[in-house]
Amino acid sequence: MKLLFVCLLLGSLAMTPQPPKTKVIAHRGAWKNTNVPENSIAALQHAIALKCYGSEFDVHLSADSVPFVLHDHSIQGVFIEKTSAAELSKIKLSNGEALPTLESYLLAGKNQTQTRLILEIKTSQLGKARSLALTKKCVELVTKAGVASITDYIAFDFDVCLEVKKLSPRAHVQYLNGDKTPGQLAAAGLDGFDYHFSVLQKNENWLADAHQRKLSTNAWTVNDETIMQWLMDRHVEMITTNEPEKLIQLLNK
Ligand code: MG
Repeated sequence: MKLLFVCLLLGSLAMTPQPPKTKVIAHRGAWKNTNVPENSIAALQHAIALKCYGSEFDVHLSADSVPFVLHDHSIQGVFIEKTSAAELSKIKLSNGEALPTLESYLLAGKNQTQTRLILEIKTSQLGKARSLALTKKCVELVTKAGVASITDYIAFDFDVCLEVKKLSPRAHVQYLNGDKTPGQLAAAGLDGFDYHFSVLQKNENWLADAHQRKLSTNAWTVNDETIMQWLMDRHVEMITTNEPEKLIQLLNK
């Protein structure tokens, strides 16, 4: 009888669904511990080699409407949005790579399905029309490169998020700015949030609320083990980090 009880207990424990493991997203690729420039194709390749769930990167539009991958609005004193693609293509990163166009970056991430391409559409400093023009270009290039099935979108501009869903209804889109509740994101038809971890610490119920609404949850940019663990304890779906190696180790503890 006792044995039967133990068997039943073990059986029911085995059948209790465990929350899925938190997924690792390399912020601007895996660059910090590999000594390559952030947002370089080399950083993307390192994130793929680490088997990260995703590799994040940032995109701006050149003066003549070609999207380039980099974080800041300018590089080596050159303002991206006011410079032609021909001029930008002459710029070299510190590892000798050319400043990647979005097209070259997407093609480098193609032919693998391990690591998702997490495309951040940056907000233009020249106005909303340019942010929306960049959005359209990004969706077009993702389709053209044949990587739609492995690409997700993030943006700080709520209108940009809505525009991606309009242009590509099946695309997965997360909002970055932290000022919308899970209810507001769901009502707008977005897929989830990617919020700074401090927003989630301030609004402790947002993770549970988002899970209930079947929204995806992602926190940036978490490099500290204590905060990683705080988020994992609350079943955050993804963590975006400059330290993917550290997070992988923590997940495998
Ligand atoms: Mg970014």
